Formats: sequence, structure tokens, C-alpha cells
Amino acid sequence: MTDKYRDDIIEGEDQDQDEDRRGPEKFCSLCRRPESQAGKMIDLPNNIHICSDCMQKSFDMMNQQMNKGNFNYTDLLHMPGVSMIDLTGLQNQMAQPKKAPKKKKEKQQEPVLDLKKIPAPHKIKAALDEYVIGQEYAKKVMSVAVYNHYKRVATDTMDEIEIEKSNMLMIGPTGCGKTYLVRTLAKLLDVPLAIADATSLTEAGYIGDDIESVVSKLLAAADNDVEKAEHGIIFIDEIDKIAKKKNTNQRDVSGEAVQQGMLKLLEGSEVEVPVGANSKNAMVPLVTVNTRNILFICGGAFPDLENIIKERLNRQASIGFYADLKDKYDNDPHLLEKVTVDDLRTFGMIPEFLGRLPVIFTLDGLSEEMLVKILREPRNAILKQYQKLLALDEVKLEFDEGSLHAIAKMAMEKKTGARALRAILEEYMLDIMYEIPKDDSIGQVIITREYIEGTGGPKILLRGQEVPLLEAQQG
Ligand code: ADP
Repeated sequence: MTDKYRDDIIEGEDQDQDEDRRGPEKFCSLCRRPESQAGKMIDLPNNIHICSDCMQKSFDMMNQQMNKGNFNYTDLLHMPGVSMIDLTGLQNQMAQPKKAPKKKKEKQQEPVLDLKKIPAPHKIKAALDEYVIGQEYAKKVMSVAVYNHYKRVATDTMDEIEIEKSNMLMIGPTGCGKTYLVRTLAKLLDVPLAIADATSLTEAGYIGDDIESVVSKLLAAADNDVEKAEHGIIFIDEIDKIAKKKNTNQRDVSGEAVQQGMLKLLEGSEVEVPVGANSKNAMVPLVTVNTRNILFICGGAFPDLENIIKERLNRQASIGFYADLKDKYDNDPHLLEKVTVDDLRTFGMIPEFLGRLPVIFTLDGLSEEMLVKILREPRNAILKQYQKLLALDEVKLEFDEGSLHAIAKMAMEKKTGARALRAILEEYMLDIMYEIPKDDSIGQVIITREYIEGTGGPKILLRGQEVPLLEAQQG
């Protein structure tokens, strides 16, 4: 550092205070020069800053191309990762010195589970219990796996015994809470979460999202904070859709090739991902993210897996002395729990892929009883949401036991798990939500089984005549 430069820095305390107010120094995302060298930066969304030189260069280049006739202005709109910039806004930004941004308030909400203290598995499970109904086994396995994973992250450099990563594979029918479990977990731990759909992924170079795009999603979820992203969770749904295609002579770009491509990510590797965009191109800066400490959770419904398991069990059972009945497993509700890695291989997952997902577990299909519980018990249960909405109109909303069972029964028939509940309730609540605000004298509404089954209406009680639900049911 030259003396003059040092003097400059020491020169005024004011300057330091200024710096304090402005926050950390910005770097140009294109030429990487700091603001002190390159001058005032233009701020773009997603924490991207560009110095005026680079901005000018980009405009000049575009102008040149346009003059040559090579460039159609509207093409720009279709370029991947390029969104139009409001130039007037930029000019204003350059002209007026930006007001010092307020320092971020440190008063962020405390996460329910503090990762620094690594919550014990029973605490993680207890927190999950408040939101997720049933799925006891899945919650237990996940709590232990997450506990081990973050312990592994924390003790990274302790000694030569390296703890393996606890990536997970969850198998369960649609709507049974796979995504919901992961989402709740990430929220409770306050870590960034990216949810990707395996069906949209293809081998690099083919139409579809590159496999690495899942990491850039996570980076976006972490507000482009690389360190935060490196401790995040990536959930890849519909993983059964990338099973090896059977009987095909073509290149399997969305099946086996995606599994192959994911191996590196699952294990841990350095990936260059674009900041603030989905695909790499010349206009977006790249950062390197290490996936070593990212927890990968894959989920899928694996249709037909039950048949594969049944076939294997029947084969085993029919050999030898103790040959069993052939249809012994036909109606076994716990068939899926008996899944083995071999069954998954038969399904079309490659062994290397399965080897990188050491924690494999299944979720139960939801029963009518569980659906009733889902309606009213979780912290943000659907019923509670409607009750809150009507409470704002000072109307008490209640559902009798029969109505809940009728709703659950209808949802069971739709075979989309708990997802059907909301749609059914919306339908029945529409009239109620429309009519109630019309009449100020209504104080209580009780949804009855008859109303859901279409043989009667809800019970409506006037203000001042409200009664407890039990009494209303008897009367
Ligand atoms: P999938 O297993 O197909 O990923 P989701 O997790 O998306 O299903 O479930 C859909 C919705 O159903 C969730 O948003 C959640 O509200 C509800 N849900 C599903 N299973 C449960 C459960 N076990 N407990 C509470 N809510 C659940």
C-alpha cells in the first residue's frame, strides 16, 4: 500500500463512518473491480453490481451489433437469463448518490431449532410432530439423519475419520407429505431449501434443465449467499421418473443419464453456477458452490414398486419346505416397507445412485383417520385457517365430527392424498364465505355431515344464541 493511499484512508473519520453506513464494498460482477477502484456501481437485482465502464461497454457492443444489422432488439428479450433493464431508472441511479441503505436489522426471527447447537433427534421430531401428522417412522429416520448430517458438517475438520453424508431417499404415495416434511424441516432449521422436479432435468446439452440447475436454485433460495447455500437442503421430487428406461435403443437423456450426472453432486463436488439466472451464459457471473455439505433428499411415489417387492417375496416364499401361499402378500398394507435396494435396482435406479443415498425409508399412505387429523390438528391446519378467516367477521365456525369424516372419505376416493382435502373444502366453503358476510346477525356456523353429503344444510345460529359444538350436535 502506498503512503499516499494509506493517508487517504486515514484522512477522515467521516469517510469511515460513510463506509459503515454503506455496508461492505461492492464488486463489479463483470470485471471484478471494487467500487473504490471502478467508481459508482449500478445495482441490479440479486446482489449483482456492475460498474459504469462495463455497463457502457455492454451498451456499445449491443449498439454496434444493432448497427451492423446482426442484432434484433427483440432478440434480447428471448435471450436466456436476460431481463430488460429500465434505463431511465439506471440513469437516475447513477445521477443521484444513493441514500445509504439502512443496515439490516439483526432482529431476525429465531429459528425454532438452532443449528449452531445442533438439536437432538427427539427435538427435531417433536418440532415436526406439530406440523406433520402420522409418518412416525419417516420423521424418526429424518430427524436422526439430519442430526448426523449437521454434526458431520460441524465437525468437518476434526480428524481423519470422515463421517459419510446422509442423503436420503423417501418413498411414498403422492400427497402423503414428502415435500411437506422436507419443507417443514428446512423452515424449522432455517436453512435454504431448493425443490426441483427430476422430470425437468436432462443430461447437459439437451433440452431441459441441466442437473446443476438445482444448485443454482438453492443459491437463489439462499439470497446468493454461497456459504448459506452450502449448508442447505436440495429436495428432488419425482425421482422415480428418472429410472432407467427399459427396452430402449435410444440414448436415455432424461433417465439413466440424469442419475449418472447426479452422482457427482450427491457425493460432493465443486459446481460453477450462474448467479441470479437458471442457465450459464456470457451475461451472468458464475460462482463456485461446493455440494459436500448440502443435504440431498430425493422423493418419489415409485408406482409398481409394490409389484416388484411382491414378486420377490413370493419367489422367496415359494421355495423349499416352508412354501407359503402364493397370494400371501397380495393385500399386505405394509408391503412398501419391505423394500430393499435390490428392488429399487429392479425398478431402474442404478446402483451407484442408490449407493449415494444411504438413508432409504418409506412413508405410509394416508388413512381416513389420518386425513381427519390433518384437517384439524397441525399448527396451520386447514380448518384453523378457515376459522381464523371467519373469526375476523366475528363468526364462530365449527365442523362436527361427521362432516370431517365425510370430507376425508371423499378425499380418499380422489387418491391424491391430503392434497384433495383443500380442494374439497374450498368447494363447500365457497357458499359459506359468500353468504356469511352479507348477514350481520349470524354468530355461529356449524358444518354438518348432511351438508357435506348433500342431504342438508349447515347449522346457522344467530349472534347471542351460539352454543358449544357438543350441545349443538345433541340438539
Ligand atoms: P407429496 O408426498 O406428493 O410430496 P405433499 O407433501 O406435497 O405431498 O402434500 C400435499 C399437502 O398435503 C401438503 O402441503 C400438506 O398440507 C398436506 N399433507 C400431506 N401429508 C401430510 C401429513 N402427514 N401431515 C400434515 N399435512 C399433510
